[in-house]
Amino acid sequence: MSPGRILILGGTAEARELAASLHAEGVAVTSSLAGRVSRPRRPAGAVRVGGFGGPRALAAWIAEHRVTAVVDATHPFAERISASAAQACPQAGVPLLRLERPGWTERDGDHWHWVADLDAAAAAIPSLGRRVLLTTGRQGLPAFAGVESPWFLIRCVDPPHPPLPPCHELLLDRGPYTVDGELALIDQHGLDLVVTKDSGGGHTAAKLEAARLRRLPVIVVRRPSRPPSPVPAVVVVDEALAWARDQAG
Ligand code: NAP
Repeated sequence: MSPGRILILGGTAEARELAASLHAEGVAVTSSLAGRVSRPRRPAGAVRVGGFGGPRALAAWIAEHRVTAVVDATHPFAERISASAAQACPQAGVPLLRLERPGWTERDGDHWHWVADLDAAAAAIPSLGRRVLLTTGRQGLPAFAGVESPWFLIRCVDPPHPPLPPCHELLLDRGPYTVDGELALIDQHGLDLVVTKDSGGGHTAAKLEAARLRRLPVIVVRRPSRPPSPVPAVVVVDEALAWARDQAG
């Protein structure tokens, strides 16, 4: 029997790390990207871009491309593709593993305000700050369009589409960021509030350390609660690597 191909549902640093390790070991790997970012960092190995067209189409893609196992390494806030994979893999008869980095943890001295979603984050802003570093991503920006009085420094990878908050400056950038860089940004723009999703991981965590050092409040959007799932899950890339290696045979 020919060795199997691993499909990684990606769009995260961990997915790229996993693809790089598998590819370096000679395992056939295809990374799938949604195509939201205009110039994505390209994972090692084969890459496909764009939605599959729902769970049935994903199952058909898996069969057609002789995929033997799937790692869902998508972002913790990407709910639909994970649900799609959880449906498609049993249909296609291939095992699925979820790789999800843990969320961030508040430390002594932090002033974090946990909220349920982007709308709640927008509602909380006026009482907490006047000059806001907004880092929740391009797609969710309409939730903040009605927040009129504070000024926003909106940081995202690609230029966002309207509607946007009326008073803002755009900063097109992508991680990883450093604490020194984040402190400089806070000081240069006189920022007094940080808004973030609970993305977890080290790539974008420097803003939290910088906020801690400058004693700034942080609004943290909780991860969406996922329904209980039979899909096995791991939190670090090495565990996913060991699993995928086994599945590839
Ligand atoms: P989503 O709401 O779960 O997905 C929406 C649709 O986009 C899915 O139904 C699927 O289309 C397609 N899609 C998503 N991820 C895909 C992938 N890796 N490969 C192929 N198709 C994919 O996801 P999202 O929140 O829009 O995020 C899109 C991508 O950006 C994800 O891959 C995620 O890892 C990455 N990302 C998301 C965030 C975030 O905050 N949401 C942050 C950083 C990176 P079909 O149903 O047509 O298959």
